[in-house]
Parts: sequence; structure tokens; C-alpha cells
Amino acid sequence: MSPVSGGVRRNVLADRHVLVSAGPTYEDIDPVRFLGNRSSGRMGFAVAAAALDAGARVTLVAGPVALPTPPGVERRDVRSAAQMHQAVMDSLPADVYIGAAAVADFTPAHVAGHKIKKRPGDAGLVLELVRTRDILADVARHERRPLLVVGFAAETADLEHNALAKLRDKQLDMVCGNRVGTAGSGFESPDNTLEVYWAGGHRRLGPGPKTTIATALIDLLAPRLPAIPEHH
Ligand code: C5P
Repeated sequence: MSPVSGGVRRNVLADRHVLVSAGPTYEDIDPVRFLGNRSSGRMGFAVAAAALDAGARVTLVAGPVALPTPPGVERRDVRSAAQMHQAVMDSLPADVYIGAAAVADFTPAHVAGHKIKKRPGDAGLVLELVRTRDILADVARHERRPLLVVGFAAETADLEHNALAKLRDKQLDMVCGNRVGTAGSGFESPDNTLEVYWAGGHRRLGPGPKTTIATALIDLLAPRLPAIPEHH
């Protein structure tokens, strides 16, 4: 019987490299303003800690968050979606990639060199945004594709439909549907409920503390990793 810690069998991810991205991204508009989102990073940090607890080597690419690094995790701090893309690609190869970050889908086409000023008579301001690169989709079709690629789908409506579409379109092995915009779940909350989907399967994790949900997620995905060959 394997030793147990916090519900995770300590060795289920031994000799595995788990790469996690967490938190929001900040897309600069000018030197003092940015476009961000409400992600706290808590879910991704809890997943990184749970993977470490399960015996993995863990790299955590973190957007701007106010969270301590779980001891033993190698952390790379980034700010923008472009920086997160680079840091994730630089951290490959990995056995598992868990994209728990709330990455901006759009970023300003130009970053103003000086603070944008309002002038008398200005009725408004039009910001031109361009698409960011999809980190998760790029990892899933990378030549060094991890054995398991897991995404998150933060949705305010049609959770199952949108999560399954993401599983298919981004060629994921697993997707964690995450209801946001309601109390007691999602962004800015210590608690969460995940609807986890994979080809032919579904499991609800929670409601419960993000740390407990993270442990349950690691328990769910670890058995789906192909065994490490004996001579490894
Ligand atoms: O398509 P959507 O943004 O809703 O998908 C969410 C999932 O995709 C999350 O796992 C998120 O980390 C990832 N994502 C990404 N790069 C982007 C946008 C989203 O990795 N540019």
C-alpha cells in the first residue's frame, strides 16, 4: 500500500515532470494601465502543490498573483500572455501539462510608450486588440507534446457544451469545466467545483476547497499516464 498524504498516493507521479500554468495575465496598454482578469491563481497553485505531493518534479509558470510558491516547486513568473507562452514552451518537455491560467485572449495591438491622456472634448477611446497565441492548443500539438494535456474551461453558461468543444478543438486529454461568476466557485473563491471531461468519461470534483479538488484531480489523471518502462 502506498503512503498517503492529503489523499494523494505520494508516489503516483514519481519520476514525472508536471508543468502547470496559473493565474491571470496582464496585457499592458501603457506604462500604468493593463487589461487583466479576476483569476487568483489559487486553483493552479493548489494543482502544483498536489502534483509535488504525488512525487512529481513541478514547474509552475505563474502570472501576476499574490501567492507563496509551494516549497519544492520551480516557479517562473510572467506578466503577459506572450511571456507565459514563451515560459511554458521553454519548460517543455513535460509528462503532464495543466493549463490552469486565465490567459488573455486579446492584447493591445500597440503599447503606448507614455501614459495615454484624455483631452478636452474626447468622447471616448478606442483600443485596438489583437488575438494572443493559444498556449494550451500549441502545447497539445507540440512536437514534444506531453503525455497528458489538461485544460480548464471557465464558463458562465453552457459549461458542458463549451468544455467538450474545448476538449475536441484543442486536442486535449482532459478538460476541467469551471463555473465562474457564481458565489462559492471559480475566480476569487477558496472553493471550487470542477466538471472534468475526457473522451468517454466525466467526473464532478467538489464542491470543496481548491486544495482538496486539486488532490482529487491529480488522483484522477495519474492513472491515465502510460507506465514508465522498467529500464527508464
Ligand atoms: O478558449 P478558452 O480561453 O476558454 O480556453 C481556456 C483554456 O485555454 C485554459 O486552460 C487556458 O489556460 C487556455 N488558454 C491558453 N492560451 C490562451 C487562451 C486560453 O493556454 N491564449
